Amino acid sequence: MAILKIARMGHPVLRRRAEEVEDPDTPENHYLVHNMIETMADARGLGLAAPQVHVSKRVVIFHAPADEPNRAPGESVERELTVLFNPIIEPMSDEKVFGWEGCLSVPDLRGKVPRHASIRYRGLTLDGGTIERTVHGMHARVVQHECDHLDGVLYPMQMTDLSKLVFDSEFHHFIEAADEMDEFDDDVEDGEEMVDVDT
Ligand SMILES: [Zn+2]
Repeated sequence: MAILKIARMGHPVLRRRAEEVEDPDTPENHYLVHNMIETMADARGLGLAAPQVHVSKRVVIFHAPADEPNRAPGESVERELTVLFNPIIEPMSDEKVFGWEGCLSVPDLRGKVPRHASIRYRGLTLDGGTIERTVHGMHARVVQHECDHLDGVLYPMQMTDLSKLVFDSEFHHFIEAADEMDEFDDDVEDGEEMVDVDT
């Protein structure tokens, strides 16, 4: 196992459409996924896509957050690490919500990004099984962020207001300003989500 080098914004591998994986269950793919897990843990990430480690394959891994403010009643909270090959996302509605995101390939920055509030996604597991889930909130956000990496899209490219692209070290101003205006709670109710780790 090895900790892999993470590609940063500007590297061509992050702008390319990654290749479909014909058969996930190969020694090469097991090795890749294990190294991605180790790399993500080392970088304290919440998710990682193969292009972020210079491998142009449609593979993502992520920990769906346990604490989901937008979780629908009865929906189970997915805490386990998910490994997904050839993922396909289908939005459940046109509703979008804004939330802060970070990215291991865009270090030291944070941006407020609109994402579909609710999605269905499916893909293959490492042993060739099928995963299909309908998710909301943070879980939906993380999956959309990771799958964008497979299509050469980084989160700043999804932003509609670049005044909300800020350095981590200045991020506290936004939380303080929101507190002062007593808007922060409203934002949360509107589906605002906080991400304090990078994907
Ligand atoms: Zn990312």
